[in-house]
Amino acid sequence: MVVQQMVDNVPQGQKFMVVGGMEHRKDDDAANGAAWQKVMQMMRERLGESVFQRWLAPLPATATAMQVTLNVPTRFMRDWIDQHYLDQMRALWQQVGGRGPLELSVTSSLRPATDVEVDAPASVVAPVAAAPVAATSSVSPSAPMSFTHDGAATLDPRFTFEHFVGGRSNELALAAARRVAEQSSPGFNPLFLYGGVGLGKTHLMHAIAWHLRKHHPERRVVYMSAEKFMYQFVRALRFKDTVAFKDQFRSVDVLMIDDVQFISGREHTQEEFFHTFNALVDQNRQVIVSADKSPQDLDKIDERLRSRLGWGLVADIHPTSADLRLNILQSKAKQANCVVPEKVLEFLAYKITNNVRELEGALNRIVAHAQLVGRAITPEMTQEVLADILRASDRRITIDEIQKRVAEHYNIRLTDMHSARRARVVARPRQVAMYLAKQLTPRSLPEIGRKFGGRDHTTVIHAVRKVEELASQDQSLRDDVELLRRMLQGQPN
Ligand code: ADP
Ligand code: MG
Repeated sequence: MVVQQMVDNVPQGQKFMVVGGMEHRKDDDAANGAAWQKVMQMMRERLGESVFQRWLAPLPATATAMQVTLNVPTRFMRDWIDQHYLDQMRALWQQVGGRGPLELSVTSSLRPATDVEVDAPASVVAPVAAAPVAATSSVSPSAPMSFTHDGAATLDPRFTFEHFVGGRSNELALAAARRVAEQSSPGFNPLFLYGGVGLGKTHLMHAIAWHLRKHHPERRVVYMSAEKFMYQFVRALRFKDTVAFKDQFRSVDVLMIDDVQFISGREHTQEEFFHTFNALVDQNRQVIVSADKSPQDLDKIDERLRSRLGWGLVADIHPTSADLRLNILQSKAKQANCVVPEKVLEFLAYKITNNVRELEGALNRIVAHAQLVGRAITPEMTQEVLADILRASDRRITIDEIQKRVAEHYNIRLTDMHSARRARVVARPRQVAMYLAKQLTPRSLPEIGRKFGGRDHTTVIHAVRKVEELASQDQSLRDDVELLRRMLQGQPN
């Protein structure tokens, strides 16, 4: 059984590996390959030649007995295909008896979806992304079907330090990740990164791996999701091959396990992870772990493992501030080589606050729309294209309502929302109300200021920043704001 495989495109001598080998039978691969070709043929008939050629034909696929992976050159393309064609393709895949999942995988650095001008003429423009470059892929576009191991753990080429935007909320995690990437012997071991979904944990881990790959190609780096770790371990148990499973970690210099919350409750896997972990740390090898919670808050984790996880440096990533979101959007728009008006970026930064992944998804959608129908990106167009995402925040919440709710919540008089009193007991709730007004209504900063006793727009900006800053440090304020937001949006708690 092949347990360890080098990524095909890594030059000889570079020991960078993706763990995820699987044995497979060539005839099964071929059966899936044939099934896949049928799907492509059916999609060609459905979509018509020109659409098919533009979107699907250029994409290389990898078929194994276990799955088919469609390799796309950019995340933009992945999102596009996901939104428009993937369901259909999956249905056909089942219909023709394809075995295993049909997956999309990004396999090359982002080729701007946009050598195309945003306000290009009103014809359908083929994104440049349609000409894939399979830089990190094991398949080349000229050999559209090849049989290879699953590359589930390939690194996303966009997840580098250069593309990570720093801010208050992630500065510790970023500094720690850089330190780990740059120094040759582990300073803090393990590095434990945690934070909510879509806040950049995986991005930072990949960034460490890219950095090491570039500057220390001799060091052996393994990046794996905890899920994969678990899966491989269970497989090894089933095939009575745990020795090989363990062997693959023996000579690793840097081990990264992503989303370690996945192994909570799995005693066997935890035990194995614990041993692997101890062995590596004892040999002075760097271990980096991510999770959605701190070690203390992870449920169903063995006490020994929990305490061991907290031994090194625990770095958390807080929710983003509007400023950081704006910087990230600017950076992503630039990467995509696309000019998006500042007003639109600001609008998104204020409106889409959950996580960076959603923010990016929204930006991608606007850019894709602009390119395809040749429309300029404007605030109006943005609202239209993102109507479904924005609906939640567009329940016509009024500033009056916000002031009333917030005053009730903090038990202050409604008139204090307009008054000049500066005592903290009234000033803080007033700032919270301004913050919510900015988030939940389409009113401009000066309009909001006027509603709060004729204050200046800079006062509103200050309030928004202040509340974000405090919320990033103070759980109870964060809970207050979240509760108020939900009440105002009429969402269940
Ligand atoms: P997590 O692993 O924490 O759920 P990811 O690392 O997958 O989140 O990040 C989700 C998306 O948001 C990725 O596309 C990532 O590039 C982007 N992202 C998150 N934080 C940042 C940041 N500070 N700068 C740039 N991109 C970011
Ligand atoms: Mg992740």
